[in-house]
Amino acid sequence: MYDLSKARQQVLAQIYQACETAQRNDESVTLLAVSKTHPSDAIHAMYTAGQRDFGENYLQEALTKIDTLKALDIAWHFIGHIQRNKTKAIAEHFSWVHGVDRFIIAERLSNQRPADLPALNVCIQVNIDQQESKDGCHPDDVMLLVDQIQALPQIHLRGLMVIPAPGHDQAFFDAEQLFKAVAARYPYLQMWDTLSMGMSGDLTPAIAAGSTMVRVGTALFGARDYSSS
Ligand SMILES: *Cc1c(COP(=O)(O)O)cnc(C)c1O
Repeated sequence: MYDLSKARQQVLAQIYQACETAQRNDESVTLLAVSKTHPSDAIHAMYTAGQRDFGENYLQEALTKIDTLKALDIAWHFIGHIQRNKTKAIAEHFSWVHGVDRFIIAERLSNQRPADLPALNVCIQVNIDQQESKDGCHPDDVMLLVDQIQALPQIHLRGLMVIPAPGHDQAFFDAEQLFKAVAARYPYLQMWDTLSMGMSGDLTPAIAAGSTMVRVGTALFGARDYSSS
């Protein structure tokens, strides 16, 4: 049987090693387990192994799992593309949203966040290496978006999220530059602390460039099978 706990230990060891090489505190990087396409049982097993943050891309699939696992103390992160008509369900069921790249989406999330829940944690997705077919705002638009989004009452603006093209490690450093430039320009942003970047194949270079949250699927759960979905 595939040993999820062992897989998690190996990924954590890789994170610690990358932190050591980069002379960073190993507690400065959070492991986000990307559980899309994997069943609730696998998430439960990963939870038992100590994992608390889980990322999902597909809303319907995620809502089913969130309901099944509602007794567990899980922080759910929405990391997929956000359609306008999906913001209400996302605002109601998730703690974090990583893929915000337009003000209208952030505004809807803020308006639709239930008043009895803490503010929704949001990262702005940036198309850092300006790939043609990718989501994310243009790097030049980040400052304006920060300025607009930080004023929303039910949003905690936490940082940036990027998905560079494979092998394009320089983009991680570009993202870090932008992340620091925002911090310098908006020193009153209390919670600007998250640089969401790095996946199974590139978490080491992402951590070298300052990632504070790596989003890891395959290296934790094994290969994804999309045939049944
Ligand atoms: C699927 C996905 C991941 C995880 O990718 P792996 O290569 O399986 O680690 C990370 N981030 C986003 C946005 C994803 O969609």
